[in-house]
Amino acid sequence: MKALVYNGPGKKDWVEKPRPVIQEPTDVIVKITKTTICGSDLHILKGDVPTVTEGRTLGHEGVGVVEEIGSAVRNFMKGDPVLISCITSCGSCPNCKRQLYSHCDDGGWQLGHTVDGTQAEYVRIRHGDNSLYPIPDGADEEALVMLSDILPTGLEIGVQAGGVKPGDTLAIVGAGPVGMSALLTAQFYSPSKIVMIDMDPARLALARQFGATDTVQVGSEDAVVKVLEMTDGRGVDVAIEAVGVPATFDICQKIVSAGGKIANVGVHGKPVELHIEHLWIKNINISMGLVNTNTTPMLLKTVRAGKFDPGKLITHRFALNEILDAYEVFGNAAREKAMKVILAA
Ligand code: NAD
Ligand code: ZN
Repeated sequence: MKALVYNGPGKKDWVEKPRPVIQEPTDVIVKITKTTICGSDLHILKGDVPTVTEGRTLGHEGVGVVEEIGSAVRNFMKGDPVLISCITSCGSCPNCKRQLYSHCDDGGWQLGHTVDGTQAEYVRIRHGDNSLYPIPDGADEEALVMLSDILPTGLEIGVQAGGVKPGDTLAIVGAGPVGMSALLTAQFYSPSKIVMIDMDPARLALARQFGATDTVQVGSEDAVVKVLEMTDGRGVDVAIEAVGVPATFDICQKIVSAGGKIANVGVHGKPVELHIEHLWIKNINISMGLVNTNTTPMLLKTVRAGKFDPGKLITHRFALNEILDAYEVFGNAAREKAMKVILAA
C-alpha cells in the first residue's frame, strides 16, 4: 500500500509500505476512504515533536471501511463504515473510566505519532471498539472527517473547558481549523458576543460567515484595546487561546473579565509569562489539555440532525495519491486561503 511517511525534520515521502496486519486481538484494520492534514502534522514535519520517529506514517484523522477485525472486537464487522478518533482508548483503565481518554493507560494520542497513522491506504486502529465510531447511514463522510480531531478539540478544550453559557461574551484567538471549530460549537450555547481574533483577513471574513459577531485583525489593530472597547471595559467572560504562542496567551490574560475563564487549546513549545500579579484578584480560571474525544458521539448526533455543518471548513479536495500537493497547499494556508483539505481514496 501507499503511505505518507515522515523521514526526519523537513522530510516526507509518499512511499510503498507493507499493509498493516492485526497484531493484538482488539485491533481493527481500516481501509481509508477520506483523510486530511492537521496543523500538528506540520509541527511534526518541522521537528517540533521528537517522539515521532523516522519512518512513521502521519495522520490522525479520517473515515474508512472496516477491512479486518481482531478476535476480541465486538462492535464492528468487515464492511462497516467508521469514523476514526484521533485518540486511542482502551475503555477500561482508570482514566478511560472517567472519560479521560487522552490519558488512557494503553492509548492517548498514538495515531500518526507513536503508531502508524491515517495518511495511508490502510491503517491499524488499536482498541478498535473504543477508538472507532459507526457512521450513520446517509451521513456526509467528508464532513465527519472534521470530527476526528478539530471539532471535539474546539468544543472540549475550548468551549466546554471555558464553560460558555447563554449570554456570555466570548473571544477566540486564532481562526484556524481549531479556532473555527470552537466558533461553530460555541453557538450550541448561545453566547451574546463572539469576537474572533487573527491576523489573516480572509480567515476573519470566513469567521463572520460562520457566526462571529465581531472580528479583530492583529497587526493592524490592538486586540486588547479593541476587545475592552467592545465590552465596556469589562473584558470577556471566556477567552479561548487557539494558536499556541506566548503573544496570543498574553492577549487572553489581558482580555479576561473578573470571574472569567481562559481556555488554552494551543499547543505551546515555549513558556508563557503568566501575569499572576494582575490575575490573582480577578477570580478567574485557566484550563488547558489534550482533547479526549468524549464528545464525539454527541457531535455525530448534532451533525446528523443538521444542527451544524462541519463540512463548511473544507476548502480544498485532492485524491489521496496527490497528498504531497495537498501538503503544499495546507502548508501555505494563508496564501492558498486553505482551512481544511480532504484527501479521498
Ligand atoms: P493553525 O495554525 O491553522 O491556526 C492558527 C491561527 O492563528 C492562524 O489562522 C494564524 O493566522 C493565527 N495566528 C498566528 N499567530 C497569531 C497571533 N500572534 N495573533 C493572532 N492570530 C495568530 O492551527 P490550528 O490547526 O487551528 O490549531 C490551533 C492550535 O491548536 C495549534 O497550536 C494546535 O497544535 C492546537 N491543537 C491542540 C489540540 C489539543 O488537544 N489541545 C488538538 C489539536 C490542535
Ligand atoms: Zn484506557
